[in-house]
Amino acid sequence: MVWRAVNPATGEEGEEIQATPLEAVESMMQKAKMASIPWRQTPVAERLTYLRRIRYYMTEHFEECAELIVQATGKPLVEAATHELFIVADAIKHMEDCAVKTLKTRKAKTPLTLFGKQSTISYHPRGVVLVIAPWNFPVQLAMIPALSALTAGNSVIVKPSEVTPLVGKLMERIFAEAGFPEGLVQIAHGDGALGARLIEAEPDYIFFTGSVQTGARIQQEAAKRLIPTTLELGGKDPMIVFADANLERAVRGAAWGSLANSGQACISVERIYVERSVYTDFVTRLKQEVSRLHQNGTEDTDLGSMTFSKQVDIVSDHVRHALEEGAELECGIHPEQWRLSKGLQVQPIVLTQVNPQMKVMREETFGPVINVMPFDHEKEAIELANDSSFGLNASVWSRDLTKARRVADLLECGGVCINDVMVTIANPYLPFGGIKHSGIGRYHGEEGLTLFCHQKAVVLDRGTKPAEVNWFPYAGKYPVFGRLIKSWYGSRRSLVGFIRAYLELMRKSK
Ligand code: NAD
Repeated sequence: MVWRAVNPATGEEGEEIQATPLEAVESMMQKAKMASIPWRQTPVAERLTYLRRIRYYMTEHFEECAELIVQATGKPLVEAATHELFIVADAIKHMEDCAVKTLKTRKAKTPLTLFGKQSTISYHPRGVVLVIAPWNFPVQLAMIPALSALTAGNSVIVKPSEVTPLVGKLMERIFAEAGFPEGLVQIAHGDGALGARLIEAEPDYIFFTGSVQTGARIQQEAAKRLIPTTLELGGKDPMIVFADANLERAVRGAAWGSLANSGQACISVERIYVERSVYTDFVTRLKQEVSRLHQNGTEDTDLGSMTFSKQVDIVSDHVRHALEEGAELECGIHPEQWRLSKGLQVQPIVLTQVNPQMKVMREETFGPVINVMPFDHEKEAIELANDSSFGLNASVWSRDLTKARRVADLLECGGVCINDVMVTIANPYLPFGGIKHSGIGRYHGEEGLTLFCHQKAVVLDRGTKPAEVNWFPYAGKYPVFGRLIKSWYGSRRSLVGFIRAYLELMRKSK
C-alpha cells in the first residue's frame, strides 16, 4: 500500500509513503531476533556511542529536522525544536550519563539467615521491543523509548503513527546515520493493522503511547500472549490556581500549558480551577493573553495548526456540547463557523461557565481549548481535580509552597508541577507515566532503562560447607528454628540466643 503524507497546516499532499506489507512482519521479527544476539553482548558504553552519533546528527541537522517535523505535524518551529529535538537530545545525554551505572550488576543486602552468601541483581535485555507511537510528538515519543530499549541491549521495531509518516521516514534516516548493525532498529510504516500484526508476531516487550481505547486493545492482545507492556495513555490534566499565586505567571502558564502544540499533548492543561476571589481577574487576563498570540504560519508563530482532522472533529464536538449545555465562549470561534478546508488552524477557545459533567471537562479534548471554573476552598479544588478517570499530570499554583506541596501530594496522578506546567516530561531524570486510565508503568529516569530489561537475582555461596542448616535431615530441628526466629525477630531480641540456636542447627545438619 502507498499513501501520501499531508501537511496539516496547508492541506497539501507531499511525499508518497510505501507501507510495510503485513507479510513482511515475520521476517522483520526474525531479523530483529538475530540482531539482538550480538547486541546484547555489546558493552553498554559501546552501545552509547551510537546514541551519541544520533545526538550529533540531530543537532547538526537541527533546522532540516525541525522543518520536516513542522511539515508533518503543523506545529510551530519553536515547538519542533523544544518539544522534540531538545527533549530527545536531553534524553540521550541522560542515558550517556547514567546508563552504564544503572545497568551494571549491583550487590543486594543479604538477610542474616543467608549469612555468608553474596546476592546480586543483574540486568538483561528482554529481546525484541516493539515501540508503537502516536502523532502528537512523533519524534520524542518514538525515539526515547526506542533509544532506551537499544541502550538496554534490545533490538527494536518502531511503528510510528500513520498520521505523521514523514517522521517515520526521518527516524529511519537518523537511525541509518547512526550506523546501527543491520536489523537492530527497524521502522514499520503503516496503520493500526500493521501494529496489530506486529503484536501477533510476539515481540518480547511492547511500549505503547496513544489513546486509552487502543491501549486497552493492545493490553488484551498482549495478555493473550503474556507479553509485558508499558502503556502511556491520555490525560485530562487539572490546573489549580490559588488566590495567592503569582497571577501573571499562572495566566501565562495556563495559556501555554493549554495551547502549546495546539493542546495536543497528553499533559496539556485541560481543566483550570481558580480560587473564586481571583477568578474574574484571572479570566480577564487570560483573554488578553490569548488574544495577543499569533497564529500566522511564520517562523515566529505562537500557534500552529492541529495535526489530525479526526481530532479536530472531537474538539468541535466537545466545544459544541459545552456551548449547548450553557458554557460561555470567551475567546475563539463557534465550531459552526470553523472554515478548515485548507489547513487545520483552530483558533484558541476559552470557555467559562463549564461544569464537571460536560464532555469538555471529562473526556480528553486534545485541542486548543481552555476551560476555566471557580472553586471556593482547597478541599473542593482537590476533589474537582481528582474527579477524573485520568491521572497523568497536574499543576498547583500558589506562593505558599507548603500548601502547594500538600495539595500536590493529594492529587491522583503520576506527576505534578508547582508554579509551572508540563515540565515533568522535560526532566529525563524523573520517571514519567500515569495512573488510572492514563496508563501503566513509567519511563524516563532509571526505570526508563531497566523496564527494557528483566532482572536476574543471583545468590552465590562459596560452596565450602557440606550443607545448609535448613536442608535435610529435619529431625530435631523444628524447636530450634522456633528459638532462632524468636531470638532474632521477636520482641526480646537476643544475639546470643540466635547464635546458640544457629550452632545447634549446624550440629544437627552434620
Ligand atoms: P492512537 O491510539 O489512535 O494510535 C497510537 C498508535 O497505535 C498509532 O501508531 C496507531 O497506528 C497504533 N494502533 C492503532 N490501533 C492499533 C492496534 N489495534 N494494534 C496496534 N497498534 C495500533 O493514538 P493517537 O491518536 O496516535 O495519539 C493520541 C493519544 O495518545 C492521546 O490520547 C494522547 O493523550 C496519547 N498520548 C499519551 C502520551 C503519554 O505519554 N501518556 C503521550 C502522547 C500522547
